[in-house]
Amino acid sequence: MRSELRIDLGALRRNVAALRRVLEGTELWAVVKANAYGHGAVDCGSAALDAGATALCTATVGEALALRGKLPLARLIVLGPYSPVELAQAGEAGLELVSAGGGVPEGVPVHVKLDTGMGRWGTSELPSPARDVVGVMTHLATADSDLDFARAQLERFREATASLTGVTRHAANSAAALRLPEARLDAARCGIALYGLSPFGADPGDDGLEPVLSWRSELALVKLLRAGESTGYGRRFVAAHDTWIGVVPVGYADGFRRDLTGAEVLVAGERRRVVGTVSMDAVVVELDRELPAGTEVTIVGDGVLLEEHARVAETITYELACGLDRAPERSTREVIES
Ligand SMILES: *Cc1c(COP(=O)(O)O)cnc(C)c1O
Repeated sequence: MRSELRIDLGALRRNVAALRRVLEGTELWAVVKANAYGHGAVDCGSAALDAGATALCTATVGEALALRGKLPLARLIVLGPYSPVELAQAGEAGLELVSAGGGVPEGVPVHVKLDTGMGRWGTSELPSPARDVVGVMTHLATADSDLDFARAQLERFREATASLTGVTRHAANSAAALRLPEARLDAARCGIALYGLSPFGADPGDDGLEPVLSWRSELALVKLLRAGESTGYGRRFVAAHDTWIGVVPVGYADGFRRDLTGAEVLVAGERRRVVGTVSMDAVVVELDRELPAGTEVTIVGDGVLLEEHARVAETITYELACGLDRAPERSTREVIES
């Protein structure tokens, strides 16, 4: 085994329950784009629906069509743009689409997206009433960082949609669902929080969330570097004194990014530092003693949070999770229910 990704659907169900408590009566829509942020869209989508989410959101028609094959009855909403061919496919597959400018398509249920400050997808005005509009939505740029700006966006949304009746209003992502009660409206589109990752880069436990993903490998080789010897490309780690190191058979091709030098992982349950340059297929950890080959290494899990790695790599958990390579030729994937 090079490494194993474990997806805990029990944790995902508990996260859904925690979000539903926060949301009170607001519907929870589970965002499963990008293969559920690398966690597996079919598994996570089915578990989320089972636990009380009422729809699944994807970024592309292709992602939704792949889910439709497995989830014939699910309500599926495609958040991103689509081509004319995909419009026809969406109609046949019973998908809902988002119109973000350029007219409201006919023949499928449509959510009209207003740009109230994200400055990206979305129109600035509502189109004249179209018969297939079932929802109006907006997307918040700063729900995790600047609640005043998020409130100003919501106010614009409220004004622009005040005259509409009989449509579902939705604006909240995970951060807004957790921190901005007035954003909850009729439905909240939650992604990152479902997976037990903090939208704020903090400890997910602070918001009652549990990480769904864990990632384990092992020491494939343990060796002693003599003082002055180095490990890895560029000789970025030179042993100051005799130092035991362990080689772990994952690298940036597996999603262990090159900027994770210095990150901590668990080796036999103790925190150890990744040293030297991360290469495509291997990383090295500094040990305090000789350990047998085969010793377990927990890269994420058992208290090592993806949020910590995101800080080391100066990115967000979203990007790290999406970047994990789940190709069966590289890692095994196990789905459990705790
Ligand atoms: C990805 C996405 C979300 C989910 O955001 P999280 O921060 O992961 O909860 C919500 N709405 C839209 C339009 C999105 O693209």
